[in-house]
Amino acid sequence: MRPDARKSGADCANFDIAAYLDGELSPSEEIRIERHFSVCTNCLSEFDLQKRMLSALDSALTDGPASREVPANFAKIVTVNAESSVSGIRNPSERFRAVFVCAFLLLLVTVSLGTEAGSVAYDASQKAAMQAFSVAGFLVHLVFEIGTGIGVVLRYIGHGVVYNSLVSAAASLLFFTLSSVALSRMIVRYNRGSKA
Ligand SMILES: [Zn+2]
Repeated sequence: MRPDARKSGADCANFDIAAYLDGELSPSEEIRIERHFSVCTNCLSEFDLQKRMLSALDSALTDGPASREVPANFAKIVTVNAESSVSGIRNPSERFRAVFVCAFLLLLVTVSLGTEAGSVAYDASQKAAMQAFSVAGFLVHLVFEIGTGIGVVLRYIGHGVVYNSLVSAAASLLFFTLSSVALSRMIVRYNRGSKA
């Protein structure tokens, strides 16, 4: 009687494949997981996949550009995943959220720059105002990049087993806050630098 064979699938969660690959398991745990691999094709293929990704990553990190063969496959997997994630922003609600995020950040930048540019104009420094405009151009570009990034992040959240709009709202809010702080710091630092 092989108890593992009977229960295979039910207790897969009890086996830490990553820890096994990293050699973090005790000898008895290693024997237990190896016995499970012999009866569970799911865990065996997961183990195989993780092992191949790990070795691709290893050779990419240790051998550098010299070993192109294994990382080529790895890079392809990563690229395909990334491409499907970006082009995956087709869902109207996802696109709406991405546009909303862009609009919010754009508004934030406009307001911040408007205030700063106004005080610069009062200082009768036309040159600084022009510089502020070029920064605005850069920031608009940045905002769209951030927006695309958020779209991808939201998509990954949407991929989650437990899709929860509350989670995505909280993540968006956190990102708004962080972006706001980062952008206002950037603007303040830029203006300090241009006046010096
Ligand atoms: Zn299993």
